[in-house]
Amino acid sequence: MRNGGPKARIAVIAGDGIGTEVTPQAVKVLKAVRAAARRPMEFVEFDWGADKFLREGVTLPPGAVELLRDEFDAILFGALGDPRVPSNQHAADILLGLRFKLDLYVNARPVELLDDRLTPLRDRTEKDIRLMVFRENTEGLYVGVGGVFKQGTPDEIAVQEDVNSRKGVERIIRYAFEYAGQNGLKRVCMSDKSNAMTFAHGLWQRVFKEVRQQYPDIDSRHLFIDTLAMEIVRDPGQFDVIVTCNLFGDIISDLGAQLAGGLGLAPSGNIHPGKTSLFEPVHGSAPNIAGKGIANPLGSVLTSAMMLDFLGWKPQAELVRAAVRAALRENYVTPDLGGGKTTGEVADWLVDFVEKNNFAGR
Ligand code: ATP
Repeated sequence: MRNGGPKARIAVIAGDGIGTEVTPQAVKVLKAVRAAARRPMEFVEFDWGADKFLREGVTLPPGAVELLRDEFDAILFGALGDPRVPSNQHAADILLGLRFKLDLYVNARPVELLDDRLTPLRDRTEKDIRLMVFRENTEGLYVGVGGVFKQGTPDEIAVQEDVNSRKGVERIIRYAFEYAGQNGLKRVCMSDKSNAMTFAHGLWQRVFKEVRQQYPDIDSRHLFIDTLAMEIVRDPGQFDVIVTCNLFGDIISDLGAQLAGGLGLAPSGNIHPGKTSLFEPVHGSAPNIAGKGIANPLGSVLTSAMMLDFLGWKPQAELVRAAVRAALRENYVTPDLGGGKTTGEVADWLVDFVEKNNFAGR
């Protein structure tokens, strides 16, 4: 059952590269949380990824979307990408297929500095870097509408369409306001490039003006995306919630990830409220470090915490985040964060923390 029901059913798709290393470690932490909570949570693993594609030619098997939609509350995803599949066809089929077919219209990317030493910004602390980026996840320039003409000639033309529907724009903007209201956040910033993209982002402007009127208690404002990129580096503390289109959200959330310690730590959720949603670390399969046992599992573990929030397991999500903060404070981390621990050692430390801090009432 979804969102606080008696039993959570989780589909685990570890994928490729370091996805296969960090995801089982995140599941290990989740199992410790499950034991601490004395609540049922079931994990079912799916082997979709490059190996299966190369072996069987299968990316997303027939019936997969229906199975996930009907039988599972959430999907814990690792990463897809493998040098043996240069086209990345399996990754596009599986990940974009799930995003579009499950209609996961909210891409939630929290930017939260968990330890002061991890930000590249001078004199910024945890209280300055704590914001949420909501990226529209089903439309925009990522729908794959377009084509090329006179390919391979000097007259070649390439067209990529930016698709924005009123329904699509309204639901992501509304989600941002709702999230702010439900989490006691006062500021929502919508960002677009309506001065140049007058048609597509003119729609964003009109919808934003309508929706913001329904949330008079929230301080809402608009920034062009170029201004937002400057402001988020100059003074990240001025933002609580940012909402923007697919392309700009992709870029600005990676900028945010670096402000909060880099790819190894960044979590994300692909959400449709009340429906099966997918949670994945922001990093990819990192073939350069795959198989070495040094991938940072904290991005996947923080992703699990987002999934717990989505499932209505709020105290457990907080417990996981407390464990990650403690590991960072103790410098019990992998080499990317300046430590000397392996992926498994970090996860074992988190499990230990969860077991020791299993306060009554969680
Ligand atoms: P993909 O094509 O699948 O996105 P990629 O290697 O191009 O893979 P990422 O995997 O996102 O891109 O990461 C870029 C680099 O950042 C990696 O090559 C790796 O060095 C580093 N990195 C990413 N995630 C982690 C992690 N969890 N732990 C340690 N280093 C990481």
